[in-house]
Formats: sequence, C-alpha cells, structure tokens
Amino acid sequence: MESIGKLSTRVVEHLRDPLVKSAVRVKSSIMGEAGKFLRGKEFVELLPTIISPITDPLNHEVHNAKFRYYDQEYRLTQSMIFHKQLACKTFDRIFIVSPNVRLETSEKALSGRHLFEFSQIDLEIRNAKRDDVMTLVEDLITTLIVEVKSSCKEELELLSSNPSIPTTPFTKVKFMDAYEQYGKDFETVLSSSFKEPFWLIDFPIWEREFYDLLSQDGRTLKDMDLILPNGFGETLSGGEREWEYQRIISRMEFKGNDPEELAWYMEIAEAGELVPTAGCGIGVERLTRYICSLDNVARTRLFPKVPGRSWI
Ligand code: AMP
Ligand code: MG
Repeated sequence: MESIGKLSTRVVEHLRDPLVKSAVRVKSSIMGEAGKFLRGKEFVELLPTIISPITDPLNHEVHNAKFRYYDQEYRLTQSMIFHKQLACKTFDRIFIVSPNVRLETSEKALSGRHLFEFSQIDLEIRNAKRDDVMTLVEDLITTLIVEVKSSCKEELELLSSNPSIPTTPFTKVKFMDAYEQYGKDFETVLSSSFKEPFWLIDFPIWEREFYDLLSQDGRTLKDMDLILPNGFGETLSGGEREWEYQRIISRMEFKGNDPEELAWYMEIAEAGELVPTAGCGIGVERLTRYICSLDNVARTRLFPKVPGRSWI
C-alpha cells in the first residue's frame, strides 16, 4: 500500500500539472457552452440526484455502492436514466450535469477511459425520436468544438491539440454490420480508422439495458452510441426509451433484472404514468479528453478517481 507521504506528493504534482490545468479549463468551457446551448433550446437544467433507492442497473459488472439510512437502502447514482424519464412528466426538455459513481472493476484502471466518479451531460426530451437526439447532439458537439477553439486557444496550444470541426450529419454505422465485418473488437478498429465522430446504431437486444426501446423487428434497439475518432472511443450512449409497463416487464425478464429493485418506478409504470422520451448522456471527461488529445481521462479532473488506483 502506498504511503500517505507519496500519495500527497502525487496529488500536488497532479494539481500543478500544466496539462491538467489546461484540460480542466477546457472542460469548464465545454460545460459552460453546453449549458448555454441547451438553455437556448428551451431545456430546463435540473440539479443532480446523487442518492436514490433506484438507479441504472447497467449492462456490465460494477461493485455495489449502497448504504442504509433509516429503513431504506440507498444507492449512489450510476446514471439518472429513471429520474430523467420521470422529469419529462414535468418538463418537455431537461438536462443535468450528473455525477455518476460506478465502482468499476480494477482492470479498467489502465484503459485511460474509466473513472469511478465521472459526469455526464445528461439530457432527455419528451415525445422525441432517436433522430431528433442525434441531430441535436451533432449540432451541440460541433458548437462546443468551435467555441472551445476560440475561447481556449492558449490551453489547446499547450496541449498540442487542434480538434477538427466535424462534418454533419455524422456517419451512421449499424452494430451488426460492423460486427460481421470486423469481429467483436469492431468499435476499437472503427474508432482508430475514422477521422470524424460517427454513430453506432441499432444495438442487438442482448447488448443493452431493458429500458432501450425495442424496434418493431423484435431484435434491435432504437439506440445509439457516439464514437470518437482516432481511437478515442465511445463518449455517448442514448436512445428512445421503453415506457409501457408490459414491455418493460418482458424486457426485465429477458435481461434478468429484478422489478423489486425498482419498486416505486415500476408502480408508476404500471399506473401508465411514464411518458415516451428519448435522450442521451455525454461523458464529460471523455469528450474533454478527445478535445484536448489526452492519453487519460484522469487529466481532465483535479481529483480523478481511477479504478483501483485513487484514494483522493
Ligand atoms: P453509458 O450510458 O453507460 O454508456 O454511459 C454514458 C457515457 O458516460 C459513456 O458513453 C461514457 O462517455 C461515460 N462513461 C461511462 N462510464 C464511464 C467511466 N467509468 N468513466 C468515465 N466515463 C464513463
Ligand atoms: Mg455506453
């Protein structure tokens, strides 16, 4: 185990690292511009839900982050998906800069893309379709890059980064087409060969959580990932959502989710109170890493939590 002395030296080195300082400044600009852009399109910003009895079950294994308070078990938010769906009963368009705690397993320590505390620019739109969200995000990402290039010239120079302004609309690649052509590591292969961000769409039903809307073909989902070029990989997941009780129940059975773990959400669904929505979450640290051409998302935060490595 690392001695406290060594750890504090590492913290101070990190806080003094000019690359970290520049990246955090760029991230601040990204968040400011994203807020301006979304408010300009009549999105209402919500404060994040940090703890709740219910949270995203996720599609991959993480350690449990839960605690008891009075007689209730709470979990730290892994994503705000269910609260976003419910918020769309109140507002047509919402967004949150949402902190997520995902206690990722330690083999993710070296990926350069994982933290166990990170943030999403999380948005959801009532009665929207996947295409609406993709068009909005293309506009948002392009605007962010243009704005950051003008407001953070010095920082980008110090980082030796010159992100190109993407051409819209972004290319769309179907999951199964890519899988058949390049095998199971297709995302890495395509991310390395593409020079522009692109969409990966139509994930097969077993690849994602129960809440991604199943298409009429009964096999693929109305969802998407945004993949960054030059090997930077995924920065966004989203899609249209399931909102009808019987469909949710059958998808939970398919995935092996326990409805008891989402008790009050399931009661709301059963009462027919969920509304159709579509949305997405953009990983702030991954987008910043791309715009700054950094090796590791840890450099995008002053106090990064790297799985299996960080104690700050
Ligand atoms: P998901 O819905 O699970 O795909 O998460 C949405 C976005 O959050 C992803 O596309 C990533 O950009 C980001 N993200 C997910 N997990 C992590 C993590 N452990 N560390 C940093 N960013 C993450
Ligand atoms: Mg994802």
